[in-house]
Amino acid sequence: MKIATVGLPCQIEALRKLELYKDEEEFSWIKNVHLKIGLFCRENWMYGCFRALVEDDFGIKLEEIDKFRIRKKKIQALRNKEIVKEIPLEKAKPYIRVACFVCLDFSSELADISIGAVGAYKKGYNIIIVRNKKGKDIVNGAIEAGYLERVNEIKRKPFLIVAKDKFESNLKEIKYREMSGYHVNYVKTFELSYKDVYEQSKTKTFDDLKREVIEEGNCTSCGNCVAVCKNLIMKDAYPEKVEECDEKCYICYLSCPRTFLPKNEIKKLVYTGENMKFEEFFGGYLEIFSARAKDEKIRKLAQDGGTTTALLSYCLDYNIVDVVINATKDKNWEPRVMICKSSDDLLKTTKTIYSYLILSPHIKSYIRGEKID
Ligand SMILES: Cc1cc2nc3c(=O)[nH]c(=O)nc-3n(C[C@H](O)[C@H](O)[C@H](O)COP(=O)(O)OP(=O)(O)OC[C@H]3O[C@@H](n4cnc5c(N)ncnc54)[C@H](O)[C@@H]3O)c2cc1C
Ligand code: SF4
Ligand code: SF4
Ligand code: SF4
Repeated sequence: MKIATVGLPCQIEALRKLELYKDEEEFSWIKNVHLKIGLFCRENWMYGCFRALVEDDFGIKLEEIDKFRIRKKKIQALRNKEIVKEIPLEKAKPYIRVACFVCLDFSSELADISIGAVGAYKKGYNIIIVRNKKGKDIVNGAIEAGYLERVNEIKRKPFLIVAKDKFESNLKEIKYREMSGYHVNYVKTFELSYKDVYEQSKTKTFDDLKREVIEEGNCTSCGNCVAVCKNLIMKDAYPEKVEECDEKCYICYLSCPRTFLPKNEIKKLVYTGENMKFEEFFGGYLEIFSARAKDEKIRKLAQDGGTTTALLSYCLDYNIVDVVINATKDKNWEPRVMICKSSDDLLKTTKTIYSYLILSPHIKSYIRGEKID
């Protein structure tokens, strides 16, 4: 079974960490995740916080809104294409997830294909960063089959302003936390080797994970640890133990992208094409250009140019993958997992949800034929 998924940079980092250690029995399901499309991400909110901000503080009924977008340092809520409320990002800042302040990746540098809005050559288009041969074959196939329209122009400057701002302000926050006695260990581990991470993880258990990652405000709620161990569940977006465990077990610690993240080793997995280019904040890539869906129906429903939905439609229609597992929302904008088997299913997953979906356990449950909550 081949699966495609869409994730934020931290979700892609989580899936790649599992892929690096895929020989662990508990991680082996990751081999079925064939395509990882990464979205750009400057910041995000837990659903409860986003709801409180929008409904309680700003008096907007979530169910009456059909699109949210961030423009000019404001969250804009739209109904029938009209802006009904603008929330200054400054007011939304206290509600941002704590782990987002120590996140350094804006453009999903470890995805096969990265897609965003800022840097696209004009409104209604996406910018697309093709990172490896697999991504290139799929994007070129989608263009040839008439799913995507390509424009070679991009706007580097606005992209770099946002990506650099995220990197620099979060680096400042990391230094501030370290000075205040907190630890953000994962950012110091990008250069570590596969073997070093493995050996060091083997001495750790869930108690270390809890102390070093969860209690220090580094947990992204990716759900990797829960996906690899039945003793854990996600409770209020953080892992919690429901069964006592074997003292010598290190599996949850190894699975976590916020303990060690050997990015250089992961890049060897991802950046497989010839003539790879490297650029600060863009990461490694074969090509960057602007694109949008050719299908007007997709464009009307999409967040930006509908490139994500069009690419996934192509993958399903041409049997490149069997299933897409991505995010959809209920009528109150709460994120839900969606198992898409057709282009019509994908139309229910368009638009950006500014809250977090716990992705890894859902993907694992689907692959292993287990019940999805
Ligand atoms: C929290 C968040 C923050 C973002 N911040 C930026 C930013 O600062 N700058 C920028 O240029 N772009 C940002 N993006 C990406 C941008 O909003 C669009 O998702 C991207 O341009 C793709 O547009 P599209 O028209 O191709 O998407 P569509 O064709 O409409 O498809 C949307 C896809 O996104 C997936 N998706 C929606 N919400 C989530 C979510 N919460 N988690 C995981 N997947 C999700 C859907 O499942 C679907 O596959 C952000 C996205 C998210 C979710
Ligand atoms: S940790 Fe936060 S800012 Fe970083 S990619 Fe995840 S949701 Fe976005
Ligand atoms: S059994 Fe192992 S993987 Fe599961 S919680 Fe305990 S230490 Fe973690
Ligand atoms: S503690 Fe678990 S949910 Fe949190 S980042 Fe690590 S693996 Fe993901």
